[in-house]
Amino acid sequence: LRKDVRPLTIDNVTVRFGALLALSEVSFSVEPGAVHAVIGPNGAGKSTMFNVLSGVYEVSEGEVRFGDEVLTGRKPHQIARLGVARAFQNIALSGSQTVVQNLMLGRHRLTTAGFVSAGLRLPKARNEEKRHTARVCEIAEFLELGNKLHVPVGVLSYGDQKRVEVARALSTEPRLLLLDEPVAGMNAEETARMAQTVLEIRDALGITVILVEHDMGMVMGIADRVTVLDFGRRIADGTPDEVQADPEVIRAYLGS
Ligand code: ADP
Ligand code: MG
Repeated sequence: LRKDVRPLTIDNVTVRFGALLALSEVSFSVEPGAVHAVIGPNGAGKSTMFNVLSGVYEVSEGEVRFGDEVLTGRKPHQIARLGVARAFQNIALSGSQTVVQNLMLGRHRLTTAGFVSAGLRLPKARNEEKRHTARVCEIAEFLELGNKLHVPVGVLSYGDQKRVEVARALSTEPRLLLLDEPVAGMNAEETARMAQTVLEIRDALGITVILVEHDMGMVMGIADRVTVLDFGRRIADGTPDEVQADPEVIRAYLGS
């Protein structure tokens, strides 16, 4: 996996849906190698922000840059090729396929040789296929799924399915990982394991993580920085201690 050395800059981003301002002149920057949380009450604009970062939504105004590359205006697959991967809140896996098969699907979407030459069983393609398989197995082991490599995803526990979803995103070898509510619906033990995993993704793999999460204990326990959105506006940005003490943040959470 490639070490990330490029900051992500969200510069004055506005997203309008008709008269509604889902994001209003939002700016913040994400330091390479950080876990950066984006939090806020329901409807604050968190999912909209992820959809902008991954190229699903176009901005009405503003720009997102990843190092020197401008991400806004690019298609999702182009952004993925620049090293931005997203693990979805609602798991985007095929339940009838095994862990390895799901990870291979995620990986192949970004490689050009892919299934056509592998289907022809050219020796070179077969070797490449082996290399990719070995790599996705490594990634599954990193997510502590090593003893479930050939199990259909649909029979795994919910907590393990969430881990496969993170592994699927990692199988594209990203520099920047967008995690959309990775512990939603998890019990305390699964949540603690996932929190530990996110820190390992940062520390052992050197990948920058942007985390949208409702579990405040988890967020405040692992985030290096936190950006708080409310009604599409950035109302705070700082360390967990700073934002937790911010009167506007307290008001936004008490009022919702
Ligand atoms: P959050 O994820 O923080 O709960 P969202 O980003 O999903 O908030 O939504 C922010 C606001 O934008 C909400 O009012 C939501 O209804 C609106 N919104 C989000 N996506 C769309 C869309 N595709 N079309 C119209 N309105 C949208
Ligand atoms: Mg949301």
